Amino acid sequence: MDQVKNYLLPPKAPREYGFFVDGRWHEGRDQFERLSPGHGVPVTRTAKCTPEDLNAAVVSARRAFEDRRWSGLSGAARGAVLLRVAEILRQRRDEIAYFETLENGKPIAQARGEIDHCIACFEVGAGAARLLHGDSYNSLGDGLFGMVLREPIGVVGLITPWNFPFLILCERVPFILASGCTMVVKPSEVTSATTLILAEVLAEAGLPDGVYNVITGSGRTIGQALTEHPDVDMLSFTGSTAVGRSCVHAAADSNFKKLGLELGGKNPIIVFADSDLEDAADGAAFGISFNTGQCCVSSSRLIVERSVAAEFEKLLAEKMARIRVGDPLDEATQVGAITTDQQNTTILDYIAKGKAEGAQLVAGGQAIDLGKGQYIAPTLFTGVSPDMAIARDEIFGPVLCSMSFDTIEQAIELANDTVYGLAASVWTKNIDKALTVTRRVRAGRFWVNTIMAGGPEMPLGGFKQSGWGREAGTYGVEEYTQVKSVHVEIGKRSHWIA
Ligand code: NAD
Repeated sequence: MDQVKNYLLPPKAPREYGFFVDGRWHEGRDQFERLSPGHGVPVTRTAKCTPEDLNAAVVSARRAFEDRRWSGLSGAARGAVLLRVAEILRQRRDEIAYFETLENGKPIAQARGEIDHCIACFEVGAGAARLLHGDSYNSLGDGLFGMVLREPIGVVGLITPWNFPFLILCERVPFILASGCTMVVKPSEVTSATTLILAEVLAEAGLPDGVYNVITGSGRTIGQALTEHPDVDMLSFTGSTAVGRSCVHAAADSNFKKLGLELGGKNPIIVFADSDLEDAADGAAFGISFNTGQCCVSSSRLIVERSVAAEFEKLLAEKMARIRVGDPLDEATQVGAITTDQQNTTILDYIAKGKAEGAQLVAGGQAIDLGKGQYIAPTLFTGVSPDMAIARDEIFGPVLCSMSFDTIEQAIELANDTVYGLAASVWTKNIDKALTVTRRVRAGRFWVNTIMAGGPEMPLGGFKQSGWGREAGTYGVEEYTQVKSVHVEIGKRSHWIA
């Protein structure tokens, strides 16, 4: 990593990666070159895998699962490998953060914080491996004893998006490994480097060959083939709701593989007049600007009590104007680059649509020209009505829409007026309001007087069209198991034939 004072530089030449199958590196026939969205220079080259490469990866994962080289170990032995992974990640933290920033465009300081969270995921996964257990029924009468065993589901396909390439990976991999499963991972084609670095780390930590395989390539070819593969027992997909839908069809048309789906969101942040408005404005600015709003859990719909709406929007607009948008490799940057050209166009199109729909633009609303890369100012629209496209569609960018309410019932109705149900946040000093909203708004993750807080102990996942299943923590491990009921007769059988 080249560095000038407190400021990292992009690499002079892109780093090259093969793909990882059966504990070995392989070269791709073709390569994909990734330009950093913050600088426009080549930073990595990764393989464009073929369907044959995918098949080899599934064969490898299947073999590693069936011979029990991983699932046959004790939870303690699996946990020990996961703890070694955490230790190696600690040593390689800055390097992994650097490549995450280069490929994704997120600020380097944020990327380092994310790697710390990933280390914690492996530590929690290590504990979960040891604690995984089934159940027993001592209530079936003196002649029968019942046990419920948890068994790993088998070969897992894991498809991840580009917004948190390493974090989303690490909110899944330790828990899949804790359960005893093996896997084939397909990262987003624009952010594959850190998923490949994890292969090196897992191998060094002593993970047996064939347990973690990575194939790289486009979603339409390799991703789709993984969803359709008849020898994959479960697929964990994180990405858009549209592709999530195609995973459901692919599972139905192939082998009914179990699905875990973490999809889109249009998450409400509800601010009551009795909240600490300074805190709530800071939370709202963070909730929409963090990771340039390219978070599935970004709070993109502000629902604010009408009596304080004008005051709150003014406060928020002032705060948003002070956010430091800049080069992701600058330590001081709070908001970096938009990750893909396509996403940049989508966000700017939605800003234009918001203006055309008649919403008032009170902060941001334009691209920022830094002479290189692609940047968008954190944007606030007020006077938004619930039927506008900017209020309904997941924009996946730093664009916040403000709507107002008079009663708690209206706030709940507005919050639930979406096909999504991923996350929500409520700000009030009144415990009755906080708990009523928390109970009645349909979302898988809830924050009260805070936003995007949490650790890998807590489950992640969505209601409604935001997905199926839960990841992380003990709930996350259980997702990758299936239960088997075992009935044991005690003593002499009472005979059927007299
Ligand atoms: P995407 O759905 O386009 O791609 C996600 C992954 O799926 C990538 O690896 C991609 O290569 C692959 N893919 C694309 N087409 C595929 C197909 N037909 N079959 C199989 N795989 C395919 O999403 P994205 O643009 O990378 O990410 C943005 C979206 O992800 C947003 O909608 C966001 O809300 C969602 N997301 C959700 C969560 C969550 O936890 N719920 C987290 C992050 C992102």
